[in-house]
Amino acid sequence: LLEVRGLRKSFGDHQVLRGIDATAAPGSVTVLIGPSGSGKTTVLRSLNALEVPDAGTVRIGDVSVEFSPALRGRALQRATTRLRAQSGMVFQSHNLFPHLSVLQNVIEGPVLVQGRPREQARAEGLALLERVGLAEKAEQHPYQLSGGQQQRVGIARALAIRPQIVLFDEPTSALDPELVGEVLAVMKDLAAEGWTMVVVTHEMRFARQVADRVLFLDGGVIVEQGPPAAVLEDPREERTRRFLQRLI
Ligand code: ATP
Repeated sequence: LLEVRGLRKSFGDHQVLRGIDATAAPGSVTVLIGPSGSGKTTVLRSLNALEVPDAGTVRIGDVSVEFSPALRGRALQRATTRLRAQSGMVFQSHNLFPHLSVLQNVIEGPVLVQGRPREQARAEGLALLERVGLAEKAEQHPYQLSGGQQQRVGIARALAIRPQIVLFDEPTSALDPELVGEVLAVMKDLAAEGWTMVVVTHEMRFARQVADRVLFLDGGVIVEQGPPAAVLEDPREERTRRFLQRLI
C-alpha cells in the first residue's frame, strides 16, 4: 500500500534524509523510532508532502509521485495535492481550530477540501467521534476538552477524509502522562480494525504490542528494520542497541 524509494531531503547543507527505502502492507502498523534529529518527522511529513523531498518516490495506493528538482510549479502542486489526499495526519499537538466546534473540526476536511455533502460528512463525523469515545462532545469547543480528548478529536479528523493510511507524529509526547493511555488505546483499536498506520513514537510498549514492523532511523538512514521482537528485543546493530539502552 505504501512504498518509499530513495527518499532524500536536505535543509541547506544539512542532509536530513540520505536515501530511505521502506514499504508497508495494507492494514499494517509501522513504527519509526530513532534519536532526536534522526529524521523521523521529516520522513512522515514527506509521505504527505508537507515536506517536499529533494529526490525519491512516494507511492500510496494508486498515487505515485517521483520527486526531483524537475517537479516544480503547478505540476508539483498537483502531485502534492493528490498525495496529500491519500493520508490523514495526526500531529504532536492537535492543531484543532479553536473557534470551531469539535464536530466542525472533524468535518472541515471532507466538506471544504473534498467537497462532500455536509449532511453526509456530519453523520460520518459523529460516527468517528463515537469511535474515539467523544460523541457527547461534538458541539463543544476544543478548549473545553482535556489534552487527551483533543488528541482523540485530532485522530477523528485525520480519519474523516477517508485516507488510505494514517500518519501519527509523536501523538502522545505533548500529553500529561496520565492522558497518554487513552490516546494509545484508540490507536490500538484502529490498528485492530485494520487501518494502515505509520507512527513516530517513543512509546516502546506501544511499538512492542501493536507494530508489525519497527524501523530504526539514525542519521537519515534506516539502520535496522523488522518485527518488534527482533528490532527491540534482539537488535543486530550496535547503534540500535545503544539507542534502546538509553531509553531504559
Ligand atoms: P525528534 O525526535 O526530535 O522530533 P526527528 O527524528 O523527528 O527528531 P526531524 O524533525 O525529522 O527529526 O529533523 C531532522 C533534522 O532536520 C533536525 O536536525 C532538524 O533540526 C532538521 N530540520 C527539520 N525540519 C527543518 C526545517 N524546516 N528547516 C531546517 N531544518 C530542519
